[in-house]
Amino acid sequence: MQSDRSHALFTRARELMPGGVNSPVRAFKSVGGEPFFAQRAEGAFLFDVDGNRYIDYVGSWGPMLAGHNHPAVLEAVLRTARDGLSFGVPNPLEVTMAETIARLVPSCEMVRMVNSGTEATLSAIRLARGATGRTRIVKFEGCYHGHGDSFLVKAGSGALTFGVPTSPGVPKALADLTLTLPYNDFDAATALFDECGSDIACLIIEPVVGNANCLPPREGYLQHLRELCTKHGALLVFDEVMTGFRVALGGAQARYGVRPDLSTFGKVIGGGMPVGAYGGRRALMEQVSPAGPIYQAGTLSGNPVAMAAGLAMLELIQAPGFHEALEAKSNALCDGLEAAARDAGIAFTTNRVGGMFGLFFSSEAKVDTYAQAMACDSAAFNRFFHAMLERGVYLAPSAFEAGFVSSAHGDAEIAATIEAAREAFRVAKA
Ligand SMILES: *Cc1c(COP(=O)(O)O)cnc(C)c1O
Repeated sequence: MQSDRSHALFTRARELMPGGVNSPVRAFKSVGGEPFFAQRAEGAFLFDVDGNRYIDYVGSWGPMLAGHNHPAVLEAVLRTARDGLSFGVPNPLEVTMAETIARLVPSCEMVRMVNSGTEATLSAIRLARGATGRTRIVKFEGCYHGHGDSFLVKAGSGALTFGVPTSPGVPKALADLTLTLPYNDFDAATALFDECGSDIACLIIEPVVGNANCLPPREGYLQHLRELCTKHGALLVFDEVMTGFRVALGGAQARYGVRPDLSTFGKVIGGGMPVGAYGGRRALMEQVSPAGPIYQAGTLSGNPVAMAAGLAMLELIQAPGFHEALEAKSNALCDGLEAAARDAGIAFTTNRVGGMFGLFFSSEAKVDTYAQAMACDSAAFNRFFHAMLERGVYLAPSAFEAGFVSSAHGDAEIAATIEAAREAFRVAKA
């Protein structure tokens, strides 16, 4: 596999950009080696600057739910861009976007658009603190909510890969306000709320964890958290930046039937453009400026081109049967990988939830806690990752990230992936 051009670009990039990248996990530090540089992308495929083609299971880390460069999304962007890139006054697409979110996710009676998932979660906890007059927040080990100071405590994703439980630069006084819990542990949550429930402004959770591999909630767990929050007057915040519109049209809250007070979105909602959003109960959202006193603003928030891309994506995924077909792809892929691992004599299991999946080099029958995810054989994953990459399959470059399928992943791509895995599992075993 050619990599001269990517190597040359990475050499230049490392001189000028920290680690050669603009977001840490792209640097391949967890799996070793060097990243490839993308030239273009289409459907289920990424093409690099050296002319290699990859079946892509990262999908720009989530947005590409209908596949890369979907003609309908591209057309919406081009059409909108011709009228101007940004206005600094309200535009009609913002209203359509708010209506669309409120219709698809009924707990979001009002919505505020922002520019990233990080901004959405930061704004949501400010609102939670402002509305409750309380200071503490609760998050879960291995959950990632963007790079806001309050969230870089036992965080997942890139922060997890690098083993930095709390980043330097986060004041201890602030980090002390973030309490952490083990995901899927009912009693730990009850005990924490019994101890200091009246100080807790909100509990924020990835309802399906996707930043410490892919960990679905145990039966009744999200309901349990809902009850605890209600009992103690804390707000329940679902960070659906990854799960939103992916694990079901209405997100994890629709899939599991739990209504949060606030929700955050990103990724899919921008269709590949930088977009985030937060929304929730009207009485809460009306406290956000300028309707209320809790300040939050954004020069480019609700950008017309970004709204057009997101709306085109949300239109595509409302096609009848879209999410059922997506889940069938995740199942076909994961069943095939499990069978290939079994044939290769490798201890391996998977999780799948809608268009999200997790691969675990583990002998456990079921992996659904952070501790179990951490105990997996990451060296075996790394060998598997590189063996797959050489065979033209791009998985997330870390054992602690979820994988994504899109509607553009057809039977042929999934069959080719499983075929590649048959050889890659043998390499991983060695
Ligand atoms: C990606 C992600 C974020 C951060 O979104 P950015 O757009 O990268 O700032 C927040 N929460 C979750 C659950 C995510 O997966």
